[in-house]
Amino acid sequence: MPNLTDLSTIRALCEKYDFALSKGFGQNFIVNPGVCPRLAESAGVTADCGVLEIGPGIGVLTKELALRAKKVVSIEVDDRLPPILAETLEGLDNVKIVLQDVLKVDLKQLIADEFAGMRVVVCANLPYYITSPILMALLEQKLPIENITVLVQKEAAERITAAPGTRQSGAISCAVAYYATPKTLFHVQPGSFYPAPKVISSVIRLDVRPNPAVQVADEKGYFALVRAAFGQRRKTAANSISSGLQLPKAQVNAALEAAGFDIRVRPEALTLQDFAAIQAALANQPSGVV
Ligand code: SAM
Repeated sequence: MPNLTDLSTIRALCEKYDFALSKGFGQNFIVNPGVCPRLAESAGVTADCGVLEIGPGIGVLTKELALRAKKVVSIEVDDRLPPILAETLEGLDNVKIVLQDVLKVDLKQLIADEFAGMRVVVCANLPYYITSPILMALLEQKLPIENITVLVQKEAAERITAAPGTRQSGAISCAVAYYATPKTLFHVQPGSFYPAPKVISSVIRLDVRPNPAVQVADEKGYFALVRAAFGQRRKTAANSISSGLQLPKAQVNAALEAAGFDIRVRPEALTLQDFAAIQAALANQPSGVV
């Protein structure tokens, strides 16, 4: 099996298959030999486990996952990679490559078809340009997965793992905290990748909750409210909710006050419970809009 963290091996593969790494697909391959084993261990991958990987690249993480898991399914969008993966993963018969855009895959069906009877985790070095859409797709579909352990840019990690109600929180932190318990595990230097990105990366693990962090009557309306509140970053929650949900300002102010908040409150000061209280207050108003 080729050493996929060795630069000359990578260059030889690229030459053999006439493959140039694509910036557009966010291709920064891991070349630090310590990172993939640690990532796989951090995801809790064991012999009874099914692993969903997103973006195998040339298979450096895929191999570490396959050595530990019962089965690995890796979804890759770049149609130039399967022939390379056939060579680099030769002999690992518990790996299946699915050539598709992860955002277009019916993941619930895929998990049911591929991982029956297994505990399932997601483990990946995510393409940075669609980090949030991928995490939201994984969480919103309420998939039967235990955790999502992924390598992302450090700045994204900080936003994703920020606790709602704290300065760095945003719509993504609220959505993540609603569905999961996030944790930052370790940081990875730019030199651990080929080519080296400009920024530090972080491994985060999202442990999926058995039940959402707050009970809300209307989940869709709840997330519409959260997204609206953070829609205009430097504005008050009231202004952003009013323009985002097209509600009269007086009505939003009244709901905020009824829920016990100052009408000048900033969205980043609001917790998941606070948003639920505001949603309930808006729904209890005469026009009952949210
Ligand atoms: N796992 C490899 C590693 O760690 O070296 C590659 C990681 S690289 C950061 C991201 C991978 O995701 C690339 O292989 C890229 O082609 C793939 N990718 C990008 N967009 C994708 C999408 N929409 N669906 C599936 N894979 C995608």
